[in-house]
Amino acid sequence: MPEGDTIYRAAAALRTALVGKTVSRFEATRLTGPAPRPGAAVERVDSHGKHLEIVFDDGIVLHTHMRMTGSWHVYRPGQKWRKRRHLARVIIETDEWVAVAFSAPIVETYREFDRTRHPRAGGLGPDLCQPEADLHECAARLFHYDNPDATIAEALLDQRVMSGVGNVFRCEVLWACGIHPWAKVSMVPQSTCLDLVLTSAHQLRANLHSPVRVTAPDVPGGLAVYGRNGQKCVRCGDVIRLTKMGEMARLLYWCPGCQVGCEPYPEKDNSDPIARAMDPHPAGSQFVSDVLRSRSAS
Ligand SMILES: [Zn+2]
Repeated sequence: MPEGDTIYRAAAALRTALVGKTVSRFEATRLTGPAPRPGAAVERVDSHGKHLEIVFDDGIVLHTHMRMTGSWHVYRPGQKWRKRRHLARVIIETDEWVAVAFSAPIVETYREFDRTRHPRAGGLGPDLCQPEADLHECAARLFHYDNPDATIAEALLDQRVMSGVGNVFRCEVLWACGIHPWAKVSMVPQSTCLDLVLTSAHQLRANLHSPVRVTAPDVPGGLAVYGRNGQKCVRCGDVIRLTKMGEMARLLYWCPGCQVGCEPYPEKDNSDPIARAMDPHPAGSQFVSDVLRSRSAS
């Protein structure tokens, strides 16, 4: 799954292959927006979190977002592609290179002077992959998050807070900071918001130049919780759990033993203990009922 660090590396590869080169072929079967003129040259390749933009010298900007499925590849002309032709959403060819975006759900273009009006351009938070990103600004955006009922795990993925954190880093960052994924963002203190942002930036930047993600060097495989459900937490020995969470039912890996910071407790009343503890979200209810079960078992 592409996260900020993956897109950053893709942008670096595309920059090397395309910038300053004349485009001999541009194909985008499901493109929304105008195509660059024939013979346009590539001026810039920018990544901003999980968004990637290729700017042509005629003012056309190609914006791709990979969501869960997409990837950019760079090939020499004639080289065999590693994915099937029908999955190609964009093909940009120069004399020396062919850049292909496979399975990208968002492929659109707009004119450069429209960029500030573009719905996705204005609201993005600072890009954690960039050394000059204002991390205190990100922490402030998290602390003053506009939906106080959101969980911290949801808010961390919101690219308006900061750009670049995807699902892997969100799980790893929450574990590193010892924060309960269902903590309400409104209950998270400012110092913890800053800690989460600094940890996110640190983990993303440490992985910019390596193809294998490592956030916990002492753990075999390099990740503390992600992909380790059913295994022991290296910090507390509890069993790492996997829960589906959020609109897209993304997989959340976490340790119930040591991620207890800002833990939400069910409110006390006299109604049925399971019913009153039900979170409106099914994953939340699942978790709360697990808590009740483990408490009554102990
Ligand atoms: Zn643990």
